[in-house]
Amino acid sequence: MAPFRALVVEDDFISRTVLQKYLVEYAQCDIAINGEEAVLAFRIAMDEGNPYSLILLDIMMPKMDGQQVLKDVRKLEHERGFYGSKEAKIIMITALDDPKNIMDAFKSECESYLPKPVKKETLLSEIRNLGLL
Ligand SMILES: [Mg+2]
Repeated sequence: MAPFRALVVEDDFISRTVLQKYLVEYAQCDIAINGEEAVLAFRIAMDEGNPYSLILLDIMMPKMDGQQVLKDVRKLEHERGFYGSKEAKIIMITALDDPKNIMDAFKSECESYLPKPVKKETLLSEIRNLGLL
């Protein structure tokens, strides 16, 4: 299968470096270090007709958090007629395993969430479940 495009959104240097390393042999992986960059990267990818298939999205980030990024991404997709299988698979990555945050993320249509620290096998099995591997 051709490598898919992935976007890692994470404000913590070490966390994003680890996630990028996990994905390197499976995906063309871009990095965004905050929510604003994430939405920008997502918009550019859509404009270029080469959208991300997978987004790993940290919830806790300064200014624009992952919940807001998730809403903005889904809004952009829906404005352009991307629904269902055309939508990016979004996995929330979070230290916040409280039920409210997780419920909010599912309401905004994330596919999944993983608590930190994320293990490679866990991430790969999740990506496999989402049909990307
Ligand atoms: Mg964070």
